[in-house]
Amino acid sequence: MSLMLKKMLTKSVKWGVTNVFGHIPTKHPRILAYHTVDNSSSIISTSPSAFRRHLEFLCDNGYQTTTLSKLTADNGATSNKNVIITFDDAYESVYVNAFPILKEFGMAAVVFPVNNYVGKKASWIARDREHILTNLMPKLNMSEAERKLEEQRLQVLGSLSLMCWDEIREMSEQGIQFQSHSCSHPFFSTISINQIQDELGRSKDDLESRLKKKVEWFCYPYGDAGNSDVDSVLEELGYIGALTANYGRFHGDREKHYVMDRMPIYTGTENSDLKFCFSRAFDVLNDVGKILRR
Ligand SMILES: [Zn+2]
Repeated sequence: MSLMLKKMLTKSVKWGVTNVFGHIPTKHPRILAYHTVDNSSSIISTSPSAFRRHLEFLCDNGYQTTTLSKLTADNGATSNKNVIITFDDAYESVYVNAFPILKEFGMAAVVFPVNNYVGKKASWIARDREHILTNLMPKLNMSEAERKLEEQRLQVLGSLSLMCWDEIREMSEQGIQFQSHSCSHPFFSTISINQIQDELGRSKDDLESRLKKKVEWFCYPYGDAGNSDVDSVLEELGYIGALTANYGRFHGDREKHYVMDRMPIYTGTENSDLKFCFSRAFDVLNDVGKILRR
């Protein structure tokens, strides 16, 4: 089948499924993945006003935040109105801008800090620039000018401040969970088994001793969940589950808890996008996509 025909077919399947199932709410809980909440031009910033609109959407539609442990304990069966809000990297803007809005709406969240960078800048972005540009940045249909702009927006992300331990402690005391995102934010498919053990073990111990709360969840840096060696280390160290950066719905099956998909939220995600993400159409397309990729 030609690429053009494949694209046309995919487009018409998406159009059909969205028309039929787009207005029916999903039966599955959702895990949202945010990064920074600010008005910078970074590649993955959500503006504070857009974040507020997202929470309004959740409230208006009866969604309530829950914890990862509660969600997985009952395989997501308790309520189809459960949602988990996550923030990767613990940007300071989450403390400054998102935390007050979360409190206003009475919502909980899970934050994944990078231990070695707490109180510093997200400078792993500059360290890994080449790998990110080659492997993560979308390359299709992008002009040279657009690519340059994306690179600048990536650079902005690396210059943003991260929360300090006092801010993390304050949020933790007020019910926000802090779970592991590793110590140095490496690509997990490129490091040795010893490094994997070290990254997962030290980040967990450090957070637990500083916050006096259990750390049982891991979020893959860069969503790089391609290394199957990680699962056994996670299990050995007492992690219940691990989150990826892949688009996908929550699956109740226990064996899938080490590769839990989320809904990545990007700059420009609006409530119409959320409405689609929280519809049955998303589940149908997600399941069809998974079957086709097998
Ligand atoms: Zn990260």
